[in-house]
Amino acid sequence: MNGLTRVFLLAVALVGCHHPLEPWQEIDLSKAEKVEPSAQYVAWWSELEACSGLSGDIHAVAFYVVPNDSTIQVGSESYWGYWIKDGNRIVLAGAHAYSEKLVKHEEMHALLHSALHPPAYFNGPCGDLTYANEG
Ligand SMILES: [Zn+2]
Repeated sequence: MNGLTRVFLLAVALVGCHHPLEPWQEIDLSKAEKVEPSAQYVAWWSELEACSGLSGDIHAVAFYVVPNDSTIQVGSESYWGYWIKDGNRIVLAGAHAYSEKLVKHEEMHALLHSALHPPAYFNGPCGDLTYANEG
């Protein structure tokens, strides 16, 4: 393999890993309503801070609820809730906006400021916050 071929293959590999759109850009927020975190959301956030050892300002998180919907469409995937890194936003389908597990799941993303699901935080001292189809 000569040098030119290697450079070409490297370029193809980089392009192949590049997603033209971040997932949040595919979320339709036109039906979403921005809400202030309820006393319940604040209480769940405080519980997560206590069990995880993390700390954060819940008022730095923008909460959105999509009324009357049971799922949020993100590209071709459906979710009950979704944390968006850009703007530190939590979007909840209305049907699940009162689910302790779901709200805590999304709040944990916001506390970690990460879309990953490290087991130490999602299935550890704070209980089982895992879902089969996670968002
Ligand atoms: Zn998640």
